[in-house]
Amino acid sequence: MYWEKELETLDRNALEKLQLERLTKSLRQAVNAPCYGQIPEINNVIKSGLKSIEQIRELPFTSKEDLRNGFPWGFLSADKREVVRLHSSSGTTGNPTVVYHNRHDLESWANLMARSIFSAGVRDTDVFQNICGYGLFTGGLGFQYGVEKLGCLSIPAGAGNSLRQIKLMRDFGTSVAHAIPSYLGRLFDVFKDEGLDPRKDTRLHTLVIGAEPHTEEHRQRIEELFGVKAYNSFGLSEMNGPGVAFECTEQDGLHIWEDAYVVEIIDPITLQPVAMGEIGELVMTTLDRQAMPLLRYRTRDLTRFIPGACKCGRTHRRLDRIAGRSDDMFIIKGCNVFPMQIEGILLKLPEVGDDYRIILDTMDDQDEMIIEVEVKKEWFNGDLAFLNNLERHITRLVRDEVLVRPLIKLVEPGSIPKSEGKAVRVFDHRQNKI
Ligand code: ADP
Ligand code: ZN
Repeated sequence: MYWEKELETLDRNALEKLQLERLTKSLRQAVNAPCYGQIPEINNVIKSGLKSIEQIRELPFTSKEDLRNGFPWGFLSADKREVVRLHSSSGTTGNPTVVYHNRHDLESWANLMARSIFSAGVRDTDVFQNICGYGLFTGGLGFQYGVEKLGCLSIPAGAGNSLRQIKLMRDFGTSVAHAIPSYLGRLFDVFKDEGLDPRKDTRLHTLVIGAEPHTEEHRQRIEELFGVKAYNSFGLSEMNGPGVAFECTEQDGLHIWEDAYVVEIIDPITLQPVAMGEIGELVMTTLDRQAMPLLRYRTRDLTRFIPGACKCGRTHRRLDRIAGRSDDMFIIKGCNVFPMQIEGILLKLPEVGDDYRIILDTMDDQDEMIIEVEVKKEWFNGDLAFLNNLERHITRLVRDEVLVRPLIKLVEPGSIPKSEGKAVRVFDHRQNKI
């Protein structure tokens, strides 16, 4: 049983035909926006007509910078009277950007969301608790409308207040919850402090986790702590928010909905498509948005297509877990490092807790990478020999992976300050930032 079986299992030819039709319509709509209307390449493509989806490469890219330059109305393609909602990004990497929706856009987004959570095995018999900010951030309302469309009993719990979250879960028999992964370790600690075990004292069977980079190791920890299956949800406000790509019950990559987006993966330097299966920057074009179509939007997220077909029968291609944003990467002592490489090492170790942070600093004229690592409560007993050994062990593992010797600082559980929303992992205090 599928939510939108026909669309989700279209063969490649039919899917591309649909994309071509929708892209043609989107381009006509897009040129109503002041920032797109004057671009000759777009008008040329419209004039000569699209014959294949590859022709999308004749169009210019749209960057986050372009969106900021066009703030606030430059990318609006519809009459203001038609627009019924705006959302903006969390602003993790600078000034936020804004996206407008008309009624059609909101309906289309709700369908994509319903389809996504259905693909992860959620049904109308489930009680769905959305532990997520309801405001400009898209995770709140995005999930809300999708969950209602699917027909679950929804609990719009909002973010934070762990005691209340636990009470809601227990009072109403929550079976599915959505939250950012970095919050779930904290929520588990509150369960423990209350003398409760989510495996026994709740009816949770599924968690949906997303909105920030996390590793397979992190997912496995969450699954173990809560006794659930955890599914990866990917999205970005510029492409609506959640519901862009989602893991199905096979847990083998995230189906990216190709009836709603044209998806490219490019080499961020040459701007050419990478070979199938290679990692590059995700570039997306909306196909079903009217108030604000976006063309070849450079997401800065790094990922790859997973080659081959998925066992679930859906034909939309799968993305691999996001390796990070191109601007998360930092260079230290000439080596390129992604925070997720470090997380992958740390969270494999049973002694290590869920939180860590990477501090880049200049000490005696030398740049250093200091990694603060929380040690799990049960292991943090002041035994210095044990801690020294663990420190040495982590130093070696990190050095072998990223080729830079880090300074590892083991700290007590709970001592690393928590960020409000998405986890911030890297703090760069160097004199000359690279
Ligand atoms: P901001 O860019 O300010 O964080 P958004 O809330 O729109 O604003 O966040 C979208 C970004 O969050 C994505 O571009 C991506 O970098 C990250 N993200 C979202 N979901 C995931 C996920 N499942 N895995 C990794 N990163 C994710
Ligand atoms: Zn699948």
